[in-house]
Amino acid sequence: MAFESLTEKLQNVFKNLRSKGRLTEADVKVALKEVKMALLEADVSFKVVKQFIKAVQERAIGQDVMNGLNPGQMVIKIVNDELVSLMGSETTEIALRPAGEITVIMMAGLQGAGKTTTTAKIAGKLKAKGRKPLLVACDVYRPAAITQLQINGEKQGVEVFAMGDKQNPVNIAKAAIEHAKNQNFNVVILDTAGRLHVDEDMMQELIQIKEEVQVDQTILVVDAMTGQDAVNVAESFNQKVGIDGVILTKMDGDTRGGAALSIKAISGKPILYVGMGEKLSDLEQFYPDRMASRILG
Ligand code: GDP
Repeated sequence: MAFESLTEKLQNVFKNLRSKGRLTEADVKVALKEVKMALLEADVSFKVVKQFIKAVQERAIGQDVMNGLNPGQMVIKIVNDELVSLMGSETTEIALRPAGEITVIMMAGLQGAGKTTTTAKIAGKLKAKGRKPLLVACDVYRPAAITQLQINGEKQGVEVFAMGDKQNPVNIAKAAIEHAKNQNFNVVILDTAGRLHVDEDMMQELIQIKEEVQVDQTILVVDAMTGQDAVNVAESFNQKVGIDGVILTKMDGDTRGGAALSIKAISGKPILYVGMGEKLSDLEQFYPDRMASRILG
């Protein structure tokens, strides 16, 4: 499970704090040093850890203890609050146009991140909300990706629009939107090509789609197992292409979890959902408060 080691370390720090009736400034500093180490070991970005510890320290030292809490519990509460705020506080939904209009969602991500699977998962969620989604195979470099999308679309009972691998993605996207208008689909989800690494061609292709098609939401899929790389990918996609939110996959694995804590602070964009398995139903809305509770154990 994600965060296993971080949770264990934080619980140890807090056990020591809880047992103290009074806390000195030095006690708080020692505890926060341990929290800092635990976060760094969980692969949270250094910059984020530094800001986080500073924020907790400022609140913890010199603050009156709230009714009903002992000083140790007070520090734990502050850590909890700051974790929630680090992850963006509120749950962010994918912004959709009214049902009578077509919302265009562009999915992006590196190969293997889980983009095609997640695209089908999202289509299932939207269908369950009463929307009529159309999946679009814009990855023209890997014919296997088109087949994979078709298989997943079928499992979800969602139509897949494909034009093979001879057309360019912009033309496919335009034709798909036309098809959506004629057939009363109200969400068009573009599954774009993934590359092994962030490269200029990939960025250009996404930029071009955005220039020629009215994309309402650009969603980046990143793999939690890749830790700080996932955070760097989110930052560079946001700078070059512009994204609206991130989906963090493979949170069911034994990732140290740092990406979940760093993405919002580093890229400025919220996590929308987390992938919790290979099945098409394994996609959960991201709740910063629940995630913080899970981390604290
Ligand atoms: P793409 O290359 O980005 O389109 O990635 P795929 O959708 O083909 O996914 C790559 C692999 O990751 C597949 O084996 C998926 O089943 C797996 N995968 C995707 N999301 C998750 C997840 O949330 N948890 C787990 N355990 N596996 C996932």
